[in-house]
This record gives sequence, structure tokens and C-alpha cells, in this order.
Amino acid sequence: MASTNRPDILDPALLRPGRFDRHILIDRPDVKGREAILKVHVKEKPLNENVDLGVLAKRTPGFTGADLANVVNEGALLTARRGHKTVGMQELEEAIERVIAGPEKKTRVISDKEKRLVAYHEAGHALVSFFLPDTDKLHKISIIPRGRTGGHTLLLPEEDRNYITKSHLLNEVTILLGGRVSEALVLNDISTGAQNDLERASSIVRKMITEYGMSEELGPLTFGHKSEEVFLGRDISRDKNYSDAIAYAIDKEAGTYMENCYKKAREILETNIIKLHRLAECLIEQETINGIEFEEIITAV
Ligand code: ZN
Repeated sequence: MASTNRPDILDPALLRPGRFDRHILIDRPDVKGREAILKVHVKEKPLNENVDLGVLAKRTPGFTGADLANVVNEGALLTARRGHKTVGMQELEEAIERVIAGPEKKTRVISDKEKRLVAYHEAGHALVSFFLPDTDKLHKISIIPRGRTGGHTLLLPEEDRNYITKSHLLNEVTILLGGRVSEALVLNDISTGAQNDLERASSIVRKMITEYGMSEELGPLTFGHKSEEVFLGRDISRDKNYSDAIAYAIDKEAGTYMENCYKKAREILETNIIKLHRLAECLIEQETINGIEFEEIITAV
């Protein structure tokens, strides 16, 4: 067993069957998880009656289990220094500040503004996927940061897909753009948070045109040779074996696909703006929402 923060740059040889072939994603805890973790760490400590672990959990979005253990230890130290007999709310709240400002600076508490931004972004992905036909089912939405992304919306297929249709791919692009559209629609501003979505969306439309022969303009041809050598941290690249005119046509058509998908996502979110607000509010409150809760929330408004 091994752990990494950068599974994207591992040598594929490490991941072959019989080696590290099972992957388990460990997320940072959500508000309920943080409360449960705090409960474990305060067990051995004499707690003052005024301590509300639920409030402390709400104040620590983005904290890991180790950060929370630190909060309790710092709180106990402060208590001892002050000569108190029990660890109080004030000490624990100060401890949170200390852990945030701590020497390592690894912990990043999420600001309310950031939370709102990520909530609308993820709610955008989720709602667009719900209102498109033939998409994977929503499994979980989270606004807790994972690795380098702010939050994530997890869709899982109900059965294995052996082949993927053009309309499915276009839906995928539309869902990816849903995050950015939601930011633009509600917050009147757009963030860098959508960068990865945009990269993935562009890569899908380009593959549709250059690899899958799904282009209306260029027809059922493939363009470019795949170079199969994989270097650490580098994507498989394609050698260009077509003219500048073709390159221009590919760019133009990719642009059209993206534009149509963007319009589609905006249409869905504009029509369902009340659901979007409700979903984002719930996300800000709960931080993670599972598939069942998601359907309850959006069918209730
Ligand atoms: Zn996104």
C-alpha cells in the first residue's frame, strides 16, 4: 500500500495489475466528518460544557484529520498555560486560528466567498448533468478541496460503457462547461477554477474531430499520429501530419462545438435558476451532498 498526492504523474508501470492496481481516493472530511473526528480527539481531554463541536466543525472547512488533532492539542496547551481545568470553547477557537496561521502554512481554511464560488461552480455541473439525457448518475457533490481542485462533482455510469456516442461526448462537454456558466450567470464573474474543466472539454472536442472521425466538416478521418511514449507527468502527444488549412478547420469546428455546448449549459441553468440557488445554498451549508439528497433538493423546489 502506498499513498500519493499526485496520481496523475505516476509511471504507468507501477499501476499494472498485481502492482498498485487498486485506487482509493481519500477526501478531506466534510462538516459531519470533522465533527466526528473532533469527538474522537477530545475524548481524553477534560472538556468545558460550553464546547460545541458542531460549531468548531463549521469553522474548519478544508481541515484534515491531522489538522483537527492539532486543534485539540493546541487547545489543551492553551488551557494548561492559562491554568484552567477544562478545555473551553475560547481555547479551541484560538487553537483553530493558530493551526491556520501555523508555521507550516499547509492548512488553508476556505473563505466564505470561496465557498460560495465553488458551491455555484459544482452546482452548475450537477444541474446541467441532471437535465441532459443519457448522462451518468450523480453520485456525490463536494465543495471540499481535493488536491489542486476546489471541489468536485462525481458522476458514475450505471453500467460499463463499451462505446461512447457523439451525443454522450457532447453532453460531457456541456457538463464540464456548466461550472463556468454557473459562475458567470450568478456571480457575474468567472474564476480560474474552471481551467481544468476547460482543458478537458477542449481535449474531448478535439478528439472527437481528430481521433474519432465525428466531424461534420472534415468527415470520418483521423488526423495526426499518436506518439505512444509516455513520460512522467507528460500527456501522450500527437504528431501533426496535416496542413495548416486542416489545422484551421479543426480549430474552427472545435470552437463551434464548445460554443454550442456553452449555450446549452446556459439555457439549462437559466431555466432552472431557482434550483441552482437552492442547491448552492445546501452545498454551502453541508459541504457534501450525495445522489439521493441531490434529487430531493432539486425536486423540492
Ligand atoms: Zn469544475
